[in-house]
This record gives sequence, structure tokens and C-alpha cells, in this order.
Amino acid sequence: MQRLWSPWRSQYVSEEPESRECIFCEFPRDRDDERNLVLYRGERTYAIMNRFPYNSGHLMVVPYEHTGDLTEVAPETLAEMMALVQRSVAALGRAFRPDGYNTGMNLGRAAGAGVADHLHIHVVPRWVGDVNFMPVTADVKVMPELLADSYRKLRPYFDGSLPDERGG
Ligand SMILES: [Zn+2]
Repeated sequence: MQRLWSPWRSQYVSEEPESRECIFCEFPRDRDDERNLVLYRGERTYAIMNRFPYNSGHLMVVPYEHTGDLTEVAPETLAEMMALVQRSVAALGRAFRPDGYNTGMNLGRAAGAGVADHLHIHVVPRWVGDVNFMPVTADVKVMPELLADSYRKLRPYFDGSLPDERGG
């Protein structure tokens, strides 16, 4: 399990200059969702693709509220976070057809949180056998075009512009 979670460590820390504001507060303030890879905006939370994905389709569910303390989060926000994880799993299932998912939070730097001051839930699609190709460091860079492709493939499943295929 430890190896599974370690690739998420410090991915943003190494990328963002110290002086910058919190990226999880910045992205939703900007209107350019495609550039920022914001997939969905809810009332209290939003979904955004991870720029340093552990796997294709790796995304994060983030509250708008700036806090790194799970015990401070309002129940309504917690409920919407989990509802958006559910929506994310549904969207990923239709867009990428993975065999499974990992989803969870790294609370605090000691636990591997790259951005420890702003909570986020990782949602990572998994495929049988992908463990064999697991990167051993977080330095693996993904081509921006591939991220944009994944974004364009995934987003319609969030905004409802594609039919719901479940049950059909
Ligand atoms: Zn923040």
C-alpha cells in the first residue's frame, strides 16, 4: 500500500514557487476551466484533473473552502465531496472503463500530501496489471496534450452532455 500512495507526494510542491497562492483556491477563481483542467463545479466542491497523474484519468475532488483540517469541514461539504467522488467514479467508468479505483486523502505532509493546507480526495482509475508499470518516483511528467485529451474525453460525462449509459 505504501508504494501505491507515495507517487502523490509533493507533486505540486516541487512545481509551484513558494510565493504562489494556494493552487486549489486559485484554479476555481480563474474562469478558464479547460486550461486549468477543471472538470466540474459543484456548490461547495469541484473536480479537477491531476497534472501529474498516477494513472490516466487521475482526478481530485476539492472543496472551495481553504482548509487542511478535515475536522473543520462542514457536514454539507463532506457530503458533497463524497457525492462528487461518486460522480467522478461514474464518469471515469464511462470514459476510461477501468477495472477498479483507488480513492482517498493524504492528510498532512507526513502522510504524503503535496498540498497539505487544502484538502483534496484523489480518485485514481486502476487497470488489472497496471501495478507492473507503477512509477517509482513522482517525477514522471505527462505530456500536456495527453492531459488535454483525457480532459476532453472525460468532461462531457460530468456536464451531462453525453447520455447516461448505465442500465442501458
Ligand atoms: Zn486553498
